[in-house]
Amino acid sequence: MKVRYSYLKQQFSNCDDLWKKLKHFVSTEDFTLGKELHKFEKNFAKLMGTKYAVGVNSGTDAIKLSLRALDIGRGDEVITAANTFVATIGAITEIGAKPVFVDCDDTFCMNVSLLEKKITKKTKAIVPVHFTGYMTNMPELMKIAKKYKLPVVEDACQSILANINKKNAGTWGSFGAFSLHPLKNINVWSDGGVITTSNLKHYNKLKLLRNHGLVDRDTVKICGYNSRLDTFQAVVGNWLLPKAKDIANQRIKNANFYDNHFSKLQQIQIPPRPKNFKLVYHLYIIFADKRDELLNFCIKKGIQAKVHYPVPMYMQESVRFLKHKKGDFPVTDAHTKKIITFPCDQHLSLKEMKYVVKCVNDFYKK
Ligand SMILES: *Cc1c(COP(=O)(O)O)cnc(C)c1O
Repeated sequence: MKVRYSYLKQQFSNCDDLWKKLKHFVSTEDFTLGKELHKFEKNFAKLMGTKYAVGVNSGTDAIKLSLRALDIGRGDEVITAANTFVATIGAITEIGAKPVFVDCDDTFCMNVSLLEKKITKKTKAIVPVHFTGYMTNMPELMKIAKKYKLPVVEDACQSILANINKKNAGTWGSFGAFSLHPLKNINVWSDGGVITTSNLKHYNKLKLLRNHGLVDRDTVKICGYNSRLDTFQAVVGNWLLPKAKDIANQRIKNANFYDNHFSKLQQIQIPPRPKNFKLVYHLYIIFADKRDELLNFCIKKGIQAKVHYPVPMYMQESVRFLKHKKGDFPVTDAHTKKIITFPCDQHLSLKEMKYVVKCVNDFYKK
């Protein structure tokens, strides 16, 4: 049996209604900052519970433009998680700021108790990453942010509709950054991203930043970017958004199924599942004894299991200038040897999940 990782074929196999909408859209010529984009932004903000949403080119740009809206740039420090995907760091370094890392805990998110001692006079923002569909401990993080008057840009790219006490990822800080990349939970047909905010001033600045700083076709108010979300992709987004809650709920169901079975195995540790957190399982990751052997065994059995990630961001060549060395972030390091990711998406069948459970059981029985 084969258990694939990518489900994109299934995601868009049954969408004649979407093709019809796209065909009509092409006839409107409304390609740039069009009506469908504004509709998408309105609906996205409503879904998240913020006043505004701004469609941008990618999740990376969602972080970058948020930082730029805060006037962060060269010489500034931005605190973030040591174990994130490269894009978080790319957004910070692209504007000339310096990423300052904090280690994670077994939730895969920043260990907020380690945050305060990283704050310096140069710190200009905190970028917590809600990694894997988990959530950073935002109640605690916001207390620290308030104490030091630091703005927060949430990297919620993997966490659409995750929440703590029913308050969504991307609505705690000044900005929430989301990705619509084909590999993310809500995915369009190319790169795409969204920024959420409830601050009118920030909202207006983001709209300038994404469109060359243009107030109108003849007036350039600030130096900005070409970072609009294509209206074409907003049509796809408008088709998907009504399914967002079902997608999250099906992933949660699948994760519960895995949790129930894997928790019976002594060789597997399940990450903490706090009751007041809603996790949306962009990645279903558990800790496994003999991880490398298990990974090879699963792959041989046709299961596309993965490791997110074998080399943590802080150890990558691209950030050698930060002069980190192995061991600087011990929990992140320890995870690289124990974590394994199994497919958990909304299109996975019960049969496929049962096969994954069986293979993991077979491996440890050997
Ligand atoms: C995907 C992702 C991003 C960036 O998203 P893109 O749309 O690919 O630019 C940022 N941070 C995290 C944690 C991500 O997983």
